[in-house]
Amino acid sequence: MNDLPRMVVGWYLRHRRDLPWRVGKGYPDAYHVLLSELMLQQTQVATVVPYFLRFVERFPTIKALAEGQEAEVLRHWQGLGYYSRARHLHSAAKQIVQRHAACVPDSLHELLQLPGVGRYTAGAIASLAFGRRAPIVDGNVQRVFCRVAGLRGDPRTKRGQERLWRLAEQMLPEENVAEYNSGLMELGAEVCTPKNPACSICPIQRHCRAFERGQQHQIPRPRKAMSRPIEKRWVFCIERHGAFLIQQRPPKGRWAGLWQFLTVPARSKEPDLSCINDASGVSVRALRALGEIRHDLTHRRYEFSAWACRAAGGTPHAGLCWVASEQLRTFPMSKPQLRIAELAMGQASPPGALRT
Ligand code: SF4
Repeated sequence: MNDLPRMVVGWYLRHRRDLPWRVGKGYPDAYHVLLSELMLQQTQVATVVPYFLRFVERFPTIKALAEGQEAEVLRHWQGLGYYSRARHLHSAAKQIVQRHAACVPDSLHELLQLPGVGRYTAGAIASLAFGRRAPIVDGNVQRVFCRVAGLRGDPRTKRGQERLWRLAEQMLPEENVAEYNSGLMELGAEVCTPKNPACSICPIQRHCRAFERGQQHQIPRPRKAMSRPIEKRWVFCIERHGAFLIQQRPPKGRWAGLWQFLTVPARSKEPDLSCINDASGVSVRALRALGEIRHDLTHRRYEFSAWACRAAGGTPHAGLCWVASEQLRTFPMSKPQLRIAELAMGQASPPGALRT
């Protein structure tokens, strides 16, 4: 087992993918590591790359990000989901400017004080950007460790996590920690995949208990199937002279602070004009169906039934405001609301169930 880190590092140096946050020689820019690690939480590399590039083009430094408006930060995160990550990143940038002279700190202790930075992200920044001896356990590394050590228990429990972090500390090499940690993550992403791990080309196969016992498909223990309730919503795209009525979501909770068309719980299959009137304060006419948008999250599923109509009079309730259609794109919106905006402006496919 002693030569496992050397094997991981050697394999990584031969097979590493060229990703935009890894460019150049030596350690990558710590801001790029912070940004990419937050973007990569719950999100695939291929999805993150274009977002990362657009983000650093607009906010090239921590200072530029700290000085940016929250709405613009959210707009550059728009479509990536889990928007609290963007808010945390923005707050972290402000904190880094105020307390660390705009330089990302290199100690685990200081990194852990930043909003949105937990044990894994702190370890990733300290090791990848500064070469510090810090262990990491993310989803990919967890899978590799569980298989290598043949751990049959549930790795998601507190006990399972403690065991994995202990293992990560014990196996941490004295040098080349950045390459070792990157290699473990890359191995989990590219070789030791959740389904059908490519054991035949795995550089650490001879150290792997799961492989030795033919248990690589049972380890780690699969997550228990969760019931995911369906939440149904009506979305009303109320138009008047080329402007739409939109509202900002509350500052806490799902899609916090993002903008949306008037959205209410669906009470039956189809809304009628009076319920739109009650919800908006505006009397409407010419109601027509735009389409169904489905949006699946880990814990629940949303079904948005989108409707277009024209305002005929009245004053919108507080919190609703008219925005010209060409200005809509400057208001950060969730992925399903963006699809609905496209439907409302005739830029997307007509009705039918669309999945975001
Ligand atoms: Fe994963 Fe297979 Fe390598 Fe074991 S041998 S670490 S199961 S890819």
